[in-house]
Amino acid sequence: MSLAIICPGRDMRAWVFALKAREPQLEIEIWPDIANPAAVEFALVWKHPPGVLAGLPKLRCISSLGAGVDFLLQDPQLPSGVPLVRLVDDELKQSMAEYVCLGALQHFRQFDQYRQQQANGTWQSRSLQHISTMRVGILGLGELGSHVASRLAALGFSVHGWRRSAASSEGIRCFCGNEELAAFLGMTDILVCLLPLTPVTRDFLDCRVFRQLPVGAFFINVARGELLVEQDLLAAVDSGHLAGALLDVFRQEPLPGEHPFWLHPRIRITPHIASITNPESAVLQILENYHRALSGQALLHCVDRQRGY
Ligand code: NAP
Repeated sequence: MSLAIICPGRDMRAWVFALKAREPQLEIEIWPDIANPAAVEFALVWKHPPGVLAGLPKLRCISSLGAGVDFLLQDPQLPSGVPLVRLVDDELKQSMAEYVCLGALQHFRQFDQYRQQQANGTWQSRSLQHISTMRVGILGLGELGSHVASRLAALGFSVHGWRRSAASSEGIRCFCGNEELAAFLGMTDILVCLLPLTPVTRDFLDCRVFRQLPVGAFFINVARGELLVEQDLLAAVDSGHLAGALLDVFRQEPLPGEHPFWLHPRIRITPHIASITNPESAVLQILENYHRALSGQALLHCVDRQRGY
């Protein structure tokens, strides 16, 4: 029996090292050099070539190497009876919270404007409102969204969230479903997207959503690029309805050189680095699920294929 790593184009040495450090006897195969596909019972996967998993007949579990599973569910040959799991990891939550808090604070404390003033040689203080009057709305109050919400609230922002189910989130005002979306957006000065990419959320962030935000709102996308209709964001920023945006994810990655986001004065971009999986902490959950899968126990952090997350 073996664990296969199927993560094309990525240097997986740190992962192999972290897995072996915890479990020296573990047999690890790295795609495309899988000597015996029939021996693979656990697959650790990130952006695999569609169809590859269908060639592993004894799979007991497919684990995403990250929090998202959209790439897995887009594989038309994804083996149907095999459970899917994803990473839920404290380091992932911490780095996501750092990124979003930084983006929200930079907007709130007007750092872009001060940067511009510096470039113009202008020494001038700007008025500052109290942080509790800055309302941050988080789309998606799951593992990452809930953690980010608590960190923003700890900084003093007024935080509320939106989710699919009516589940509550400790200390955070929660809106639910399409019926409450308008109320949620109408009281959001900084909109943070942490929704998974599913057939329902694809292209969700469009002109109808931006129109319902207050004039001067700021937008942060740290979920997936395909949730955003990029032309609608550009129109909303160029018209002055939105103050600007911070984007970490894009419909096409790497972002093409001629894309208007590169040079836009009010759109800041980063190369999909908001939250990066740390092998040393993540392998604990991976190995736990590996052993659970082999012994037929319930797996951690299972994905619901119907919901898409
Ligand atoms: P999660 O725990 O599955 O949470 C997803 C949240 O979205 C839940 O609150 C869920 O509602 C809500 N949701 C899903 N579909 C919805 C819909 N149609 N309408 C309203 N709410 C909906 O996911 P997570 O671990 O927090 O991760 C979120 C996403 O972040 C991942 O899928 C991934 O794409 C992205 N991500 C990005 C980076 C990066 O570096 N940029 C890193 C890691 C992850 P319920 O609570 O009601 O189910």
